[in-house]
Amino acid sequence: MEKVMVIGAGQMGSGIAQVFAVSGFDVLLYDNNDAQLEKGLAGIQKRLARDVEKGKLTESEKDEALKRLVKANSLDEASGVSLVVEAVVENMGVKTEIFKKLDEVAPADAILASNTSSLPITEIAAVTSRPEKVIGMHFMNPVPVMKLVEVIRGLATSDETYEKVKNYAEKLGKTAVEVNDFPGFVSNRVLMPMINEAIYCVYEGVATPEAIDEVMKLGMNHPMGPLTLADFIGLDTCLYIMEVLHEGLGDDKYRPCPLLRKYVKAGWLGRKSGKGFYDYNGN
Ligand code: NAD
Repeated sequence: MEKVMVIGAGQMGSGIAQVFAVSGFDVLLYDNNDAQLEKGLAGIQKRLARDVEKGKLTESEKDEALKRLVKANSLDEASGVSLVVEAVVENMGVKTEIFKKLDEVAPADAILASNTSSLPITEIAAVTSRPEKVIGMHFMNPVPVMKLVEVIRGLATSDETYEKVKNYAEKLGKTAVEVNDFPGFVSNRVLMPMINEAIYCVYEGVATPEAIDEVMKLGMNHPMGPLTLADFIGLDTCLYIMEVLHEGLGDDKYRPCPLLRKYVKAGWLGRKSGKGFYDYNGN
C-alpha cells in the first residue's frame, strides 16, 4: 500500500492521519512536540473506538488501521513516502522551513501538500525545487466527518499533481473541488465575509446573536447560525482570515468588523475560551 506522511498531530493533522489509515494507507505521523503527538494518537484511538461502538467500523478494521499508523521521529522519514500532507501551525515561516526540508528528503516524484486555510500555496511552492508537485489539500474540520477537500492549485501546480490528489481524496471517501490560489480560496472567501457581516449586524444593533443565527438557520437552511459557527471556529481565526482577505485582495469590503477585533482583544475567542457571542461556561 502507498505510504503517506502527515506533519502536525493537532486537531487537523490527527484527523487527516486517521482518515488515511482507515482508508488503507500506511501513515507516518510526525509532530515536533512529543506530547502533542501522543495526544493526537490518543484522540485517533478514542474516535476509532467510538466508531466501533456505533457500528461504523469493526474491531479488526480499527486494529488494522491503528497498525498502519506509525509515529515518525523526524522529517527525514519522508524519504519513503509518495505524499506528504502538512498540517502544522498557520505560520508561513514554519511551513516554508518544513517544505524546504521535505524537498530535500522526499522522493523526487512525491507530492507535497499543505492543509493551510489561508496561506498562498504558490509562495509555499516557491521555496521548493518542485513547485509543480506542491498543492493545497484543504480538509474541513472535523476531518473524519466532513466530505469536502478543497484542492488548491498554486500557479505552477501540474495537471498530473491535481489528478493524483483528487484521486487520493476520493480514496478517502471525500470529494475534491478544484480551486485556484487566491486569498481565502473559495471556502473562506465566501464564509468569512458572511460571518463578518453577521458580526456587523450585532455591532449595529440590527438584531441579537440568537436572532441572527435563527434567521440564517430557519430562513436559509444553514445547519448552524454564523455566530455559533464563528464561536466554533475561534474568533481569533476569523479575524486572522478576514485580515488575509483584506490585505490580499486590497478591497475594503473585507474590513474586519470592529466588534470582532474588540472580542479578540478581550480574549473572547468563542468556544475554546468559554466565551464569544455565546457563553460556554454552563450558564
Ligand atoms: P493545531 O494547533 O491543533 O495543530 C498544529 C500542530 O502542529 C501542533 O500539534 C504543533 O505541535 C505542530 N507543529 C508546530 N510546528 C511544528 C513543526 N515545525 N513541525 C512539526 N509539527 C509542528 O492546529 P490545527 O487546527 O490542526 O491547524 C493545522 C493547520 O490546518 C493550519 O494550517 C490551519 O490553518 C489548517 N486548518 C485548520 C482548520 C481548523 O478548523 N482548525 C481547518 C482547516 C485547515
